[in-house]
Amino acid sequence: MTKNYRNIETKLIHAGEPDPLIQGAVTMPIFQSSTFEYAGQTNYDDIRYIRLNNTPNHIVLHKKLAALENAEAAIVTGSGMGAITTTLLTFLSPGDHFLTQDCLYGGTYEFITKDLAALGISYDLIDAANPDSWESRLRPETRAIYVETITNPLMQVADLRVVPGFAKTHGLISMTDNTFASPMNFRPSEWGFDLSLHSCSKYLNGHSDIVAGAVIGRADLIKKITHKLNHLGATLDPHACFLLHRGMKTLAVRMRCQNESALDISKYLESHPEVEKVNYPGLESCPGHQFADKLFDGCGGMLSFELKGDVERAERFIRNTSLPIVAPSLGGVETLITRPATTSHSGMSREDREALGISDTLIRLSVGIEATQDIIEDIEHALKK
Ligand SMILES: *Cc1c(COP(=O)(O)O)cnc(C)c1O
Repeated sequence: MTKNYRNIETKLIHAGEPDPLIQGAVTMPIFQSSTFEYAGQTNYDDIRYIRLNNTPNHIVLHKKLAALENAEAAIVTGSGMGAITTTLLTFLSPGDHFLTQDCLYGGTYEFITKDLAALGISYDLIDAANPDSWESRLRPETRAIYVETITNPLMQVADLRVVPGFAKTHGLISMTDNTFASPMNFRPSEWGFDLSLHSCSKYLNGHSDIVAGAVIGRADLIKKITHKLNHLGATLDPHACFLLHRGMKTLAVRMRCQNESALDISKYLESHPEVEKVNYPGLESCPGHQFADKLFDGCGGMLSFELKGDVERAERFIRNTSLPIVAPSLGGVETLITRPATTSHSGMSREDREALGISDTLIRLSVGIEATQDIIEDIEHALKK
């Protein structure tokens, strides 16, 4: 039985947990068994087997994730890309068309523009900041609209309130990649989105030690995604389920710390004479601030900025920092720094990057949970050198 907890901090700890506790264990044990005794199931998806995503370690996560975003249902996957590709392949068939935001996570962008295109699934890239331009892109075969809650690496936030209404009017499925916000800062179901997708490798797990994904939303759609996932096999194994479960319990304390720290660091950078521009939706100077302010409970731990000067200046700054680890990925407890042109967006041509406003000098910071003052002092020191 799932008890109804009101606040997300409490849900992270208690929602979906076994009741009564299994053998009295306070922490959910790992069920390291690929198969389970047959119990008269008549439906393939109900047979108990790890690939069918229904071991006790999966089920507890499904209940907890759905509760976190006040949604009907959820499914965990073997990676964020596993969640995204399985979901798109569930609802799009050859001949179909969909609308997608122009600035997307690199893996998603390549999957849509190369793999889906090769399957005969077409798309139109839309400017999320300009909803009036969407309707002219619709076709009779348009099935879905796909956006990201906070875009990478410019941290743009569109007026997300418009997306679910537009989707309903035109019979589309609305989806948002909610990885950067996490359920702490934004819950898409509450605003009418059909589906929310996550790379749980980031904030949900929070410790940079597994890859995992999730889809959260309408129960009828999650059922169809689960059926497709059972065939495609992007399943999370029970041990990784356990690690994700353990990581998620501290999401609220980590995220609150990262929300605050990233805002303070953004303000510090914005006031620094050697900094040209800072992208963080918590700053009033950012165009997405007006929407973030209405939609979010916090703006997360991701920010990006440009220094005055050329690529060599940016590289020298990165080399001179000592606290952040130079690495791609994000959302863990340790601060990471990277230049997106060389990592997350290296698959794109420079012209495509520049058309989206991603300069080669842009630096991205994933703020961890170290003392904010230590991070700022390290940045200050590196800027002086
Ligand atoms: C990392 C990431 C993904 C892909 O997730 P994996 O777990 O690495 O497969 C998708 N979307 C966003 C926004 C991400 O940051």
